[in-house]
Amino acid sequence: MEQRVFGHTGKQVPVLGQGTWQMEDDSREEAIRSLRAGLDLGLTHVDTAELYGHGRVEESIVSEAIAGRRDEVFLVSKVMPSHATYAGTLAACEKSLRRLRTDRLDCYLLHWPGSHPLEETVRAFEKLVADGKTRAWGVSNFAVADLEELVSLAPAEHVACNQVLYHLEERAIEHAVLPWCEARGIAVVGYSPFGNGRFPSPRSPGGRVLESIAQAHGATARQVALQFLVRRPSLFAIPKASREAHLRDNAAAAALELSREELQRIDEAFPLGPSSDALPVL
Ligand code: NAP
Repeated sequence: MEQRVFGHTGKQVPVLGQGTWQMEDDSREEAIRSLRAGLDLGLTHVDTAELYGHGRVEESIVSEAIAGRRDEVFLVSKVMPSHATYAGTLAACEKSLRRLRTDRLDCYLLHWPGSHPLEETVRAFEKLVADGKTRAWGVSNFAVADLEELVSLAPAEHVACNQVLYHLEERAIEHAVLPWCEARGIAVVGYSPFGNGRFPSPRSPGGRVLESIAQAHGATARQVALQFLVRRPSLFAIPKASREAHLRDNAAAAALELSREELQRIDEAFPLGPSSDALPVL
């Protein structure tokens, strides 16, 4: 599995990780099996959040999947904006650690910008790093204006990543957020790389392009999509797959090599769309 330096953390992290949102709705055993198969295949970036299943995903799925394998995992969780006061962030982190049955996260994120002062969240994140509760911190769903406020409160070098919506039919981050983060060495983690289950149909014009490129490589359309979504060195993707067959399909995307011409065809088949200051979220 190809790895890249994850922002300013200096840590090598696989380009493809594993999402865990909505896993509480799937077979618990199957989801755990899939996550563990993912770790075996090198998809060691595991993304979770206190929000997911109201803590149940952390507590009963991710904790079990990483049990005995903590050192292999790049473990990411998120604090909800409603908890993101100074004291609330510290407390939320402790609760996530307890549910995950670990003593530290690798990265802790603010799930989206909220109404509590960002300065408090940042101060709590810095305290969590100083106390060894998380190795690094970052944000999620931050538009450029939010990022500007963030770097007025902390050095950009302290911000490991911005996790944002990014799939073939939603490429808005490419206008401003992605270049902004790239210019400052901040990793960009694309979530919902398959549009949260709404992947282009093979009969749609874009779907036909993906299928034809996939056929030329003996690959699948989703593998082609994933490879496109991590085509720049700042990019990571975190597909969610509760089914092991899906996980294996996704893991194989890392080995796919797309030519410049193929990337161009995908680019044209899924146009960028208009620029806007607002950041699309799921
Ligand atoms: P996604 O990864 O775009 O799509 C997941 C769906 O695609 C599931 O139904 C999954 O099925 C299916 N799937 C996965 N691989 C497949 C394959 N090879 N073939 C066919 N179907 C496949 O959706 P997502 O869960 O929204 O996004 C991924 C992760 O990003 C989340 O789990 C979460 O960790 C993170 N996220 C973060 C935010 C945020 O605000 N920061 C928001 C949304 C998501 P099965 O599960 O049945 O295998």
